[in-house]
Amino acid sequence: MMSTRNPCDTPTGLLAVDDARRRVVDAIHPVEGFETLPLRSALGRVVFNPVISPVDVPPHRNSAMDGYALNSQVLPADGDQIALRVVGTAWAGIPYEGRVAPDQAVRIMTGAKVPNDCDTVLPQELVQIDGNTIHIGHGHRAGANVRHPGEDVARGETILSPGRRLQPADLGLLASLGIAEVAVRRRIRVAFFSTGDELRAPGEPLGDGQIYDSNRYTLHGMLSRLGVDLIDLGCIRDRRPDVVAAFRAAAATADAVITSGGVSVGDADYVQETLSELGEVNFWKVAMKPGKPFAFGRLDHAWFFGLPGNPVAVMATFYQLVLPALRRLAGEATSAPLTLKVPAAERLRMSPGRTDFQRGILGHDEHGELVVRSTGRQGSHVLSSMSLANCFIVLPADCTGVEPGERVEVQPFEGLF
Ligand code: AMP
Ligand code: MG
Repeated sequence: MMSTRNPCDTPTGLLAVDDARRRVVDAIHPVEGFETLPLRSALGRVVFNPVISPVDVPPHRNSAMDGYALNSQVLPADGDQIALRVVGTAWAGIPYEGRVAPDQAVRIMTGAKVPNDCDTVLPQELVQIDGNTIHIGHGHRAGANVRHPGEDVARGETILSPGRRLQPADLGLLASLGIAEVAVRRRIRVAFFSTGDELRAPGEPLGDGQIYDSNRYTLHGMLSRLGVDLIDLGCIRDRRPDVVAAFRAAAATADAVITSGGVSVGDADYVQETLSELGEVNFWKVAMKPGKPFAFGRLDHAWFFGLPGNPVAVMATFYQLVLPALRRLAGEATSAPLTLKVPAAERLRMSPGRTDFQRGILGHDEHGELVVRSTGRQGSHVLSSMSLANCFIVLPADCTGVEPGERVEVQPFEGLF
């Protein structure tokens, strides 16, 4: 990776990916406002207030086994045996309320409250049952198979912190505390559009020199996974008034605006010009491949992200630069994406200069060991490479290529939504 230098200081005038990401994320503060939702509606939403447990979980001492509850003082020493009389049954939800003398035991089910006079549960497989009497040998541990109050969660414990994106386990955890509703930050609104005279929507016939607009679909998918309110403003022609109108409409309603295309310096690239007029936007050349041209700034009250036009560059810059920013905007506590070091199954070509986000397929070799392969052609227009891939292979800017068996850094798509 490149160091944390200012883009102006670098001989290439490029901004390292990590620096670009840090600049973007550091500039952004979470949106204000929250709503209180029933648990099932809160999956994937970001926790707003700390959640403190009002109770102990489990709330009472209970059995981890189907078996017999007894007092450990009577457990026999080596070689000995004892006989205990079974005086009743403790069911999950129906406690045994009576006393249990030292020479007695209680039949107990998993989850049932352990009677006050007992401290140990022996699984039924480990005792000999003879009518109403059980025979117990040596070798049992006092306190075995008893779950204690607060063992899972203690009353007063902070169970979820603000910034946590709610997972299935969290819904269950909240339910286990008897909590039926949770305060989550409001969803962020994200407007996006494509730019380009050559673009047609799927379903329309293609004219000479035209292509279908794919970026609006990948963006739709990535943003939907993130759980934002989407505002799809369509495909905007390369005409200044159209571009201006689209920016105004986007900034009026959204917390963030994302565009693709028109961000370089071609004759039909109106994004830079328009933005410098309407807002406060920085244009960077980010040292990443695919990618490079990237705009970030402010448009009225909205954050603006101008992505390149090439379909793979759109996805790579979105994942590396925009996603962390949107997560922060949504109030999520962000952390670096999970990466693995994995041997390359084959030679990988690389021309040094920019961090390369090659498309890879993480899988197993014939010995069952984890390896990564290339998806094949790596052009920034080869969108099929993203479809085939399940990870980025992240090659540092100074890498000149990878030999088979060499370990490379891999970023699984799983962690990227
Ligand atoms: P641009 O940055 O506008 O010069 O676009 C760079 C390349 O990406 C060109 O080949 C465009 O045709 C292509 N491109 C731009 N926008 C899209 C889009 N929405 N869908 C597919 N390809 C696009
Ligand atoms: Mg264009």
